[in-house]
Amino acid sequence: MPKYDYDLFVIGAGSGGVRAARLAAMSGARVAIAEEHRVGGTCVIRGCVPKKFMVYASEVSQALKTAQGYGWSKCEASFDWPAFISAKDIEIARLSGIYVTNLQNAGADIFHARAELEDAHTVALAGREGTITTDKILIATGARPSIPPSLEGAEHVITSNEAFHLPRLPKSILIVGGGYIAVEFAGIFNGLGVETTLMYRGANILRGFDNDVRSHLEAELGKRGITVILGCEHTRLEKTAGGVKSFLASGHEMETEVVMYATGRAPYTAGLGLEKAGVALDERGAVAVDAYSKTSVENIWAVGDVTDRINLTPVAIREGAAFAETEFYGRPTAFDHEQVASAVFSQPPVGAVGLTEADARHKHGKVDIYRTVFRPMKTAFYGGEERMLMKLVVEQGSERIIGCHIVGPDAPEMIQMAAIALKMGVTKPQWDATCAVHPTAAEELVTMREKYVPPQLAMAG
Ligand code: NDP
Repeated sequence: MPKYDYDLFVIGAGSGGVRAARLAAMSGARVAIAEEHRVGGTCVIRGCVPKKFMVYASEVSQALKTAQGYGWSKCEASFDWPAFISAKDIEIARLSGIYVTNLQNAGADIFHARAELEDAHTVALAGREGTITTDKILIATGARPSIPPSLEGAEHVITSNEAFHLPRLPKSILIVGGGYIAVEFAGIFNGLGVETTLMYRGANILRGFDNDVRSHLEAELGKRGITVILGCEHTRLEKTAGGVKSFLASGHEMETEVVMYATGRAPYTAGLGLEKAGVALDERGAVAVDAYSKTSVENIWAVGDVTDRINLTPVAIREGAAFAETEFYGRPTAFDHEQVASAVFSQPPVGAVGLTEADARHKHGKVDIYRTVFRPMKTAFYGGEERMLMKLVVEQGSERIIGCHIVGPDAPEMIQMAAIALKMGVTKPQWDATCAVHPTAAEELVTMREKYVPPQLAMAG
């Protein structure tokens, strides 16, 4: 008779939890997974996947412009928001179903209920009598949108959660924040014909990205018709008959049909019973873990956004897989968080891997920069103003490429390939030895020969 009901109990059936549960169950372990919402988690249900469908939908307006530039006529089209939302929901339901099937095929038990720890080996499920015992526990509950708590009128704003289910497409929207979600949704709504304003408190959007990327993207968003307000915040918001009135710190007021806050996401740890099990949080409120995703408690692990390391789906998946490898296959594995590429699905999109120029100068002292800004041939053909940015950061001496940054069409697809080379430690001469693929935008990446001297360094001599 086993000592516990299960070998592993996973809380949260998102990207990280599902991967860990499946792999553990496939090893022959007795695994259960609990999910209070829908199987698939943020990525599948209200994040990456539906967001990408919305990006695709919104890009059609740009494609229609391009079509006219290439001689097509009668390009007027209208967009049916309810039809799109229902098609999107059908696809999301299908994908969620695949996650369920995969878990079942692996032999994991699924509990559609909220789980709470009673102690380090006991779980209670909402709406179910009794408790479940387990040898190991994995916390994979993700994160939740976070709105500044002191915001007056916060009840009138939506977050990305609601943006996926608006009853109708608004005429105007104010999006607050300068991170991934804010710039992505600004592109989506703008592309769908909504009068879109992006307001960010800092000097430029996408803090943490290379400064050239940040300023280039800001300019491109403006060219696409998005109004970008920098260095500004709300003082308060008020409901009006037609939407929401924003009172800004600059003294200005503006009314939009919808105000959306994309001001970060907080680890979802509330009400999990972590304190009863003795699981420690770090100073940011995330579950504190070691390199193997183990918490302060010997038999409890945590992966994904709830640990606030790198909050990306593929990272959560790899952390979940590393946990399963370590604990159920006897192969100690720690996911390497270095040089993880990421993409921002803004319009135009961004792809980045490795260090920014500023971080590289700080960490390595002298670096060489290779940089090009050009008009992609597709839009240049009809006089489009769009410009693409590519930039390489190279460590002097070793000549290793330690950063690659792209803004422009297909940047996310390109950066995935570049990330392989950077992860392998590619040098600039090796990179340059790669023959170009012509005619592509990506060929510019391997044909940058001249070192770029930033204006401020050139002036300094
Ligand atoms: P981010 O952390 O990317 O950005 C949050 C933004 O909100 C920042 O610009 C931040 O400003 C601003 N902000 C924070 N607090 C306040 C405040 N009190 N008042 C005004 N502005 C504030 O969070 P997101 O919500 O955009 O996304 C969450 C995470 O989800 C991302 O970090 C990313 O890891 C992941 N994600 C990844 C995507 C992808 O891979 N394509 C897509 C979407 C999300 P400041 O910079 O000044 O702190």
